[in-house]
Amino acid sequence: NNAAPLDFIREMVAADMKSGKYNGKVVTRFPPEPNGYLHIGHAKAICLDFGIAAENNGVCHLRFDDTNPTKEDTEYEESIQNDVRWLGFDFGKHLYYASDYFERMYECAVELIKRGKAYVCDLSAEEWDEYRGDLANPGKESPGRKRSVEENLDLFARMRAGEFEDGAKVLRARIDMASPNINMRDPVIYRIRRAHHFRHGDKWCIYPMYDYAHPLEDAFEGVTHSLCTLEFEIHRPLYDWVLDSLGYKFPDRPQQTEFSRLNLTYTVMSKRKLLQLVKENHVHGWDDPRMPTLSGMRRRGIPASAIRRLCKMVGVTKFDGLTDVAVLEYCVREELNSSAPRFLAVLDPLKVTITNFPEEGVEPLDAVNNPEDPAAGCRKLAFTRELYIEKSDFMMEPPKGYFRLAPGKEVRLRYGYFIKCEEVVTDAAGNVIELKCSFDPATRGGSAPDGRKVKGTIHWVSASESVPAEVRLYDRLFSVEQPGADGVDFLTQLNADSLKVVTGRLEPELAKLASGSTVQFERLGYFTVDPDSAPGKPVFNRTVTLKDSWGN
Ligand code: ATP
Ligand code: MG
Ligand code: MG
Repeated sequence: NNAAPLDFIREMVAADMKSGKYNGKVVTRFPPEPNGYLHIGHAKAICLDFGIAAENNGVCHLRFDDTNPTKEDTEYEESIQNDVRWLGFDFGKHLYYASDYFERMYECAVELIKRGKAYVCDLSAEEWDEYRGDLANPGKESPGRKRSVEENLDLFARMRAGEFEDGAKVLRARIDMASPNINMRDPVIYRIRRAHHFRHGDKWCIYPMYDYAHPLEDAFEGVTHSLCTLEFEIHRPLYDWVLDSLGYKFPDRPQQTEFSRLNLTYTVMSKRKLLQLVKENHVHGWDDPRMPTLSGMRRRGIPASAIRRLCKMVGVTKFDGLTDVAVLEYCVREELNSSAPRFLAVLDPLKVTITNFPEEGVEPLDAVNNPEDPAAGCRKLAFTRELYIEKSDFMMEPPKGYFRLAPGKEVRLRYGYFIKCEEVVTDAAGNVIELKCSFDPATRGGSAPDGRKVKGTIHWVSASESVPAEVRLYDRLFSVEQPGADGVDFLTQLNADSLKVVTGRLEPELAKLASGSTVQFERLGYFTVDPDSAPGKPVFNRTVTLKDSWGN
């Protein structure tokens, strides 16, 4: 069932469809700024924008909001397109660039000047701080407000022509210097900025401000429902002012509606902070599996379906909240449980010698590929004289209730036999380095004909019939729920143990899987093949453990 539950935005769209406000049309847009990689917060907006369009036979535009030249780059643009597709959404031919409207936006600004609704202002940023006033005090009028239309047209054309220094002049909307909404006190709509634009080079030295550009982008594209996050609520009057001032009317006029951001515990979501993590090498790039970016999550092995599931669970409201990352982990397990084939792998190997099994013997045992999916079938596991088990599955002095291996104790090997620990070999320092065990040939398949019970079942691999692999054990990137809260520097809250690299031993099939394949290592978690893998040198990332190991 893919129908999303009705939320206040879907109810609004349904009402608009019914009333004919937009002649039955739904056009949405997802408008990322190409100044970073997409993160899971963006996924919420993508699921909403594309979801609502699809549910109403409408279209959703992918529009690059590339009006701020200094931080934007084609690397980001390409990653964004790739990530939107990976998440499962198709923008088809509806790919747009805000910067392609610069000429039309310029013409609209000229029109505003002609209508007496915009003027050129010479005040410096510092002077404006004083003119603007504050919540308790109305602002003062800029001297530029008194300029004639002719003078404003002339000055604005000369701003464009490059006659003035950066910051020497701005174009302001003439609105209301006494407005209780500071955004409405004659906001800047154009500034002079000599910066190279990644698509338009040095063609422009004036750039429109977001609050002026965004409503126009929406209107030019015939967007009906312009959905954005709550922090834009106080910008909506300006959004409406721009459209009203230029005479846009329904049904050719977009409507802005705000919803709550997605925030996740134990991570940060601001692009500025993510960029800092990358630039200062706290992580190994935007697609580091610890990052909340879509590329990082993909590399971590998180399926797109788990991210869509999370977005649906979190829903769309007007209240900002904080989602426990455990909810994402739950979604990941739910998705992978049915699809991920099972394998045996040992991440912290302890050698076991089966003393009563022949030296060169190799016995194939039947193993089930996925108990959740009978169609996945069976495979063979090689049982040999030398095996590896997990170090943590043996204890010299087991506490009560420990059902794994201990001196003189018996345990079941998954898909194999009962083995009994007969002798413990230690090194000079007293570390356990090998166990000598016997196996009971009558227990093949996991039960004893004499009815004796063994509680513990542990995973294992053959020493000779397994392959070594680098396994990267990822954990939460930060050690606190809300990094950076209460004025603390978020970088001081990085989890020092967010990555542990071990050399494990795997069933040989695992070394043949393609990069991006995700499997379950029984009892350990879900793991995915990292693109760093090379022939004969597999690298696996831990996607998520099987259970929440963080206390709950
Ligand atoms: P940042 O503030 O980190 O720079 P942004 O919101 O400016 O991020 P954009 O590229 O402008 O990033 O975002 C594109 C769209 O994604 C916007 O409509 C924005 O509202 C939405 N979005 C960004 N972050 C989240 C989030 N955490 N939850 C939901 N939607 C988000
Ligand atoms: Mg933005
Ligand atoms: Mg931003």
